[in-house]
Amino acid sequence: MIAEKCHHDFRRSLGRPNLKSEYVKEISAICGMCPHGCWVRAHVIEGELVAVSADPDPRFGNLCERGRLAPKIVYSPDRIRIPLVRSGPKGKIHFREATWDEALDRIAEQFMDIRNRYGAHALASYMGAGTLEDGLSAFFKKVLEPFGSPNDIDCGSVCYVSSRILAPLTTLGIEGDALTPDFENTGSIILWGTNPLKDGIPDKVKRIREARRKGASLICVDPRRNGLAHNADLWVPLLPGTDGALALALINIVIQRKWFDRRFVDRWTLGFDELASYAATFTPEKAGEICGVDPALILRLASALSPDSRAAMDFYSGLEYAPSGVQNTRALFSLAALSGNLDVEGGLYIHAYPHALFREYEYNPAIPPLGALEFPLFYALAGRAHISGLPDAVLHDDPYPVRGLLLVGGSPYLSYPDPERWKQVYDQLNFMAVIDRFIPEEAAWADIILPATTYYEIESYHLYRDHVRMRSKVIEPVGEARNDSMVLSAIARRLGCGSSFPGSEEEIVDHAFADRRQLLRIMKAGPGVARLPLAERRTRKYESGHLRSDGKPGFPTPSGKFEFASVLLERYGYDALPVYTDPRASTVNHDSMLMLTTGARTRGRFNSQYLDRQELALNREPVLEINPIDAEIRGIKNGDRVSLRTDLGEIVLEARVTTGICHGTVHAPFGGGSRRHHGLWRKAHVNSVIPSHMRDPISGYPVVKAVVCNVSKVDTDADLCDGVSPCVEYAEDSVNSTTER
Ligand code: SF4
Repeated sequence: MIAEKCHHDFRRSLGRPNLKSEYVKEISAICGMCPHGCWVRAHVIEGELVAVSADPDPRFGNLCERGRLAPKIVYSPDRIRIPLVRSGPKGKIHFREATWDEALDRIAEQFMDIRNRYGAHALASYMGAGTLEDGLSAFFKKVLEPFGSPNDIDCGSVCYVSSRILAPLTTLGIEGDALTPDFENTGSIILWGTNPLKDGIPDKVKRIREARRKGASLICVDPRRNGLAHNADLWVPLLPGTDGALALALINIVIQRKWFDRRFVDRWTLGFDELASYAATFTPEKAGEICGVDPALILRLASALSPDSRAAMDFYSGLEYAPSGVQNTRALFSLAALSGNLDVEGGLYIHAYPHALFREYEYNPAIPPLGALEFPLFYALAGRAHISGLPDAVLHDDPYPVRGLLLVGGSPYLSYPDPERWKQVYDQLNFMAVIDRFIPEEAAWADIILPATTYYEIESYHLYRDHVRMRSKVIEPVGEARNDSMVLSAIARRLGCGSSFPGSEEEIVDHAFADRRQLLRIMKAGPGVARLPLAERRTRKYESGHLRSDGKPGFPTPSGKFEFASVLLERYGYDALPVYTDPRASTVNHDSMLMLTTGARTRGRFNSQYLDRQELALNREPVLEINPIDAEIRGIKNGDRVSLRTDLGEIVLEARVTTGICHGTVHAPFGGGSRRHHGLWRKAHVNSVIPSHMRDPISGYPVVKAVVCNVSKVDTDADLCDGVSPCVEYAEDSVNSTTER
């Protein structure tokens, strides 16, 4: 009876109450909307995905709003279904349909031509968050390298590398992905600049909730009280970009109160005395002033780090976009180690080991990869070109000309500061090809646009920390869309580099499991899921020699120690200690100003993917969050239109007055500014007011989360869209895209 009612509700939700349930096929699948790999049940009628529900699996079963809306996204009228070739002037979306062969041949022809005229380095590729599917990112990240170009760029230029590679490698010699906060065995969970509810692997949220049920307290350190912070035991609202000062104050407290293990410090760390004397200047009072946090709250936070408690710290991208983003993250690793919470039960546990000393990537000095001269450590540790170098190469031939761009599943125009400059870059290119699911803003300058599949339309695999699951195709590709991997493989074949990449979906899986054939056989024969063997659980592995691949005790760093003072940073000319830089340092008078943080993650989008999808718009208008105290001073009420200004310009948003953001701070969403947007969204490109020259000197990341700004109420009812109906303009462009063949 209950089952029948469920079926009835389900049929009604499809708008087809009389549909016989036997027509609905329920397929166990991995969600195809983002790379987080939630397990779902896909409901399919006659080969069409009609609905998605969460899989009942207690650990991996999950469904967010983006996942639930999959049918709308997959079959959106804006989906690119057929290869398109430019048929009108640059700057307009004027295309005609083409065959795959014609489009791919043209790309190869143009790339060959550019290589012949300027050299292979005149070609660059950019892979955005849309390419993070496991099979694709494992084998196709450097698609131009076999063709001779060092300029394969990816979204690591703006996410992940700072906090997961640069900061941990320069501190303990281990990448962040090998570290797991041991929520299950801790007394306090400290979420710092991360919101697992909105962005992250869903089983992390379940683990946190389970740990809380067993008694762990939850502390959230963030300018915004969002997600899990709503029910936290302690919310520490700090001003954006000041995390390093707070971390140093906590280090100071741990040292002053002798909460650290002297034997650990003497035997296993480098630079303790220097760190102690630097951190001594960050008293709770001084840090309170810098961070806008009551010193008493800092002391409460510190008590979670006392020797009689255990703290599992989790920190991520919230810290990356500050003037000292890498160093701020290093300060947190240092805090974890100093307070006795590194590689212990209930602390920040190193789950994957052993580790060789990290590799430093080298390049041909005659042709440096883009950005490698300006951000040398980024290249040395990440082994990738940096997007910061692309505009100058295209616009000023500096350090050499770049003339061709392959853009895959990403939008620098939406994701990076200074969108007007990006338009100039696209305008200046000789040739640009785009592979995506939807037409990005860049398409107005593209020469070829190729339709990519969602993950529901491909075969692949998904790796979890301790599991692997085959990704089975749920539906046939929409229109003529193809798996991005196979498109890249086809381009590589035409460029004479086909042997460098898997040529079919089956080959991708075979390559991925080349050294685990037995596992692959088991998965293929069974339900498609297998457990991965985990390294034996051991704590304090630096003592026993299990952390380093040479079997020696210590850390896999140049000194063999946990480096409060980093040998590598010093060698590359940076501060060896986790030195804090204040985001307001260059502002003369900031008394009446606010700190702007931007781009908090939402469940509606995945990084820059789906940013302009109307189906996923969580707010009708772009919302500026502002604290009631700051709003009252400025006479701003909920729903008012407000102007957000920086040295670079102004955008208009709708005010949301909320106690969920700390006093002195405002938050604006990113992702506006596309021709597909409506109303205020259309001009609210927050990256247009972010200075592009403000960057973390180590990672090169733009300072998008700590910008001095001014906010005031907009009194006029002026037409903020210049009287243009974005729907009409886009519709006209689209008509052009399909009438010529
Ligand atoms: S987070 Fe949402 S969109 Fe991503 S895999 Fe999970 S359900 Fe799908």
